[in-house]
Amino acid sequence: MSIQFKSITQLRAMLDEKLISPLELTQESHQLAKKFKDLNCFVTMNEDFSNKKAGAIDLKKENNSLLLGIPLAQKDLFCTEGLRTTCSSKILSNFFPPYTATAVRKLEDAGSITIGKTNMDEFAMGSSNETSFFGNVHNPWRKGYVPGGSSGGSAAAVAAGIVPAATGTDTGGSIRQPAAHCGITGLKPTYGRISRWGMIAFASSLDQAGPLARTAEDCAILLNTMSGHDLKDTTSLNIEVPDFLSKLNEPIKGLKIGIIKEFDLSDLDEEVQARFEESKKVYEKLGAKFVDVSLPNISASVPTYYSIAPAECSSNLSRFDGVRFGHRAQDTDDLNDLYIKSRSEGFGDEVKRRILIGTYALSAGYYDAYYKKAQQVRRLIKNDFDHVFESVDILMTPTSPSTAFKFGSKGTQNPVELYLEDLFTISSNLAGLPAISIPHGQVNSLPVGLQLIGNFLREDQLLNVAHIFQQNTEFHLAKPNMENFK
Ligand code: GLN
Repeated sequence: MSIQFKSITQLRAMLDEKLISPLELTQESHQLAKKFKDLNCFVTMNEDFSNKKAGAIDLKKENNSLLLGIPLAQKDLFCTEGLRTTCSSKILSNFFPPYTATAVRKLEDAGSITIGKTNMDEFAMGSSNETSFFGNVHNPWRKGYVPGGSSGGSAAAVAAGIVPAATGTDTGGSIRQPAAHCGITGLKPTYGRISRWGMIAFASSLDQAGPLARTAEDCAILLNTMSGHDLKDTTSLNIEVPDFLSKLNEPIKGLKIGIIKEFDLSDLDEEVQARFEESKKVYEKLGAKFVDVSLPNISASVPTYYSIAPAECSSNLSRFDGVRFGHRAQDTDDLNDLYIKSRSEGFGDEVKRRILIGTYALSAGYYDAYYKKAQQVRRLIKNDFDHVFESVDILMTPTSPSTAFKFGSKGTQNPVELYLEDLFTISSNLAGLPAISIPHGQVNSLPVGLQLIGNFLREDQLLNVAHIFQQNTEFHLAKPNMENFK
């Protein structure tokens, strides 16, 4: 029985029924990764170590964790002890961290097997996975098309059925948008739900780790394990973690879903609009009610984000100086020259652009006009959400304005074209709210994502509402034809 395209729940059953051993499962996962290497979704494999770990698992003796023996892939932004961690950048192309990120460590402690590190946009800056030093990742649904970004490698590995789930990070949409473009489910949790310790920082006040999987149910399994307070991350929330799995299957009769008036969907592709209307009907049939709501400041989300995120990145990335981490330029005259040459050689164009914008926005003369102003607008956006969540339970939008696009077709002349990919996803990062993308059909044979945004810490409700949709539709079961990648 092939393991390809199986969910965690299905693989768990196969393991428990002894249809496959943990070692065979890990080996098959590696074989699939090799068979589909043209996808370019992995930067580094962990074959020897993962086979050793899987081979040592005794299903009879060990804990009853749902993740015991389950192969997973980790975005190459999470530090993994002794396993190369590059953030898909030349500057970290030879970096072997001395420790493992908390989120990954928790998954590994639960018995899962890290089979490799996934390709991504360099330092998670991008929406198409085209900024990676290690090359583009193909969308499993169509060769030569982007998988979305920045967690494009993770999304492609799951969509191609190589692993049942993978980790991602989401600063402005990087879990949800690639999940949408690859036809899988991706959850960005509440800011602070999962520790950021050991995640290489892009924009610290926005970054959040989360799962990409085939179903909302599998996302709940990963979230249960990844969540929780961590003394090593001062922004991690010190609150009890509910059992998200036990909150699935709650009836949604009477659920109030808000539709954001300020998002004019009539600008979108007609087919994308049609999918959205059909999904509304699915929820209506299940007893949900739709209400129009207004978030008056939400249209300022993209410019606000593109002031705050580069500002924070320019500060975070100052640590990559050629002295302490990664790539160091040769033939330098003095220390300053070493910094300049190492950074010039080590960073790609998009990362340099962001560092420049951020340094400018934080400079003495412009701080008030850009960074401070953006933080004020961010507060207004957060207040808008607080206000609408007094009258609705959940908000619903498309995840992305379009489906996956051809390599090189967006943002090459004008980067703002790509920045607008995150029109619908960025506001929940600014407000720190949880949001999920689930597949809800196709347009021209490419997947389309539906986004649900939840109130602060209401991942339980969000996962339930996504799960109920998946119990009543079959969009999440669609699989790409992988013939072109063999
Ligand atoms: N596409 C957005 C950006 O380039 C978001 C990236 C992310 O969420 N990491 O900044």
